[in-house]
Amino acid sequence: SVPKFPFPSNEPEMDFGAGTQAAQQLAATLSQREIVDIPAVIGGKRIYSDVVDEVCAPHDHQRVIARIHRPSEAQVGEAIANSLSVARDWANLPFASRATILHRAADIVASRLRIKINAATMLGQSKTIDQAEPDSACELIDFLRFNAYNAQRIYAEQPLSVPTAANRADWRPLEGFVYAVSPFNFTAIGANLTTAPALMGNVVLWKPSEKSALANFIFYEALEEAGLPAGVINFVPGNPEITTRAALSSPHMAGIHFTGSSAVFQSLWRHVGTHIESYRSMPRLVGETGGKDFVLAHPSADVDALSIALIRGAFEYQGQKCSAASRAYIPASLWPRVRAQLQERLSVLTVGDVADPKTFMGAVISKASFDKLDRRLAEAREDSQVTIIAGGKTWSEPGYFVAPTVLEVSNPRHALMQDELFGPVLTIFVYDDNAWTDTLRLIDETSPYALTGSIFCNDRFALHAAEDALANAAGNLYINDKPTGAMIGQQPFGGMRGSGTNDKAGSWMNLMRWTSPRVIKETY
Ligand code: GLU
Repeated sequence: SVPKFPFPSNEPEMDFGAGTQAAQQLAATLSQREIVDIPAVIGGKRIYSDVVDEVCAPHDHQRVIARIHRPSEAQVGEAIANSLSVARDWANLPFASRATILHRAADIVASRLRIKINAATMLGQSKTIDQAEPDSACELIDFLRFNAYNAQRIYAEQPLSVPTAANRADWRPLEGFVYAVSPFNFTAIGANLTTAPALMGNVVLWKPSEKSALANFIFYEALEEAGLPAGVINFVPGNPEITTRAALSSPHMAGIHFTGSSAVFQSLWRHVGTHIESYRSMPRLVGETGGKDFVLAHPSADVDALSIALIRGAFEYQGQKCSAASRAYIPASLWPRVRAQLQERLSVLTVGDVADPKTFMGAVISKASFDKLDRRLAEAREDSQVTIIAGGKTWSEPGYFVAPTVLEVSNPRHALMQDELFGPVLTIFVYDDNAWTDTLRLIDETSPYALTGSIFCNDRFALHAAEDALANAAGNLYINDKPTGAMIGQQPFGGMRGSGTNDKAGSWMNLMRWTSPRVIKETY
């Protein structure tokens, strides 16, 4: 009998509270000083190389946690050839068999690898457990289960048949391979960028970020254990330029599934556009990229809820979410209370080692990120249009730390209100209470990105005006909530403008990009 995939519920978070067995196991795993060798995996074979990149914990950058074995360009080419050799068999496997393998991988993570993958995410990506668990366990598991449910709905969709002709949609994968490029900030995203196309019958070349490679490799091993046939997803961590060159120069590159910066996605797009005749199929380009996400408060807003949302939205995971609150518009009448609450609450938040359960924020991801933030904060200190409301400090020992920082700008078009900094920096513009309509126009005009946004408002008329004026300024809009933490199955996720192709991760809309249906008419 063909298995059916019922509407899943979201995987609940495990309790890592003080004294729990989970907390003890996690602490023990985090304190192991193991250095993990991460190979490339091509056709089921582990490939170790002489060229290794050491991966360090961002909050303790003397601590090496892994060594990534870089495959050569020729080996990446072999990975592509290997995937193509298994593509037909994988595509012809019944959907239910593919989905069952991925469900099994979700169960393996949920039941046995949870502590291990959380610890890897905490060490490699500098997440506290309250940020790691919803990402590398819950969201990762949800992606697998919800995608299986949603794919099944797509496959059930069939055209009309009439007495003289049977019409059939044959939901084929793309012809070729999908190149998946996954980011450092969410372990779950790597799982989705690879398994969503694989679920739809595609073979995949996976280049994870080196910072998330440790956690991603643990997931990769779960896929192997779940029975994913060798070669369906080949794992090629290492140098992005080399891997991308090999992937994009193949005529069989049929799609890119990307999460990362707008600039890199644009460069991939540019390359594909320039060389479009070299591809056998017109590649599908699916990307979720940058953001400069707004929080807009109306004079009717609840100040307590707003302050908490600003802190959680801007500073959880050091502001390194594409969805992070990074600019806010606060009415003058509320500003003194909001400012006081931000200063009071931020003064007690701790920044440091993510293994310590009291820590609120770990380090930013790399020296490059630290240097950039350090420079922007130094410039802000000298800038007459900027007032530092909270934070502003940086320190680079033992890790790359940046204090949660709130800046106020007198000019709403200041670069700090438009550039994505990808760090714990929230910039605020205080507007005149009577300028609601002008502020809506201003936000729309100064939104080169359009990923997420929040409106805090208890006035329905003002809210309707905002929803209308900001229709293209956020792919995910939150009312009276922070702009981060979209849940799979609840808020399909993705943005417009410079934020990507808005194919809504975790939904049927994304899965549709990984199928190239053939329609067959049979006449009697
Ligand atoms: N889905 C995540 C959220 O809603 C953000 C993903 C990202 O940063 O790319 O917070």
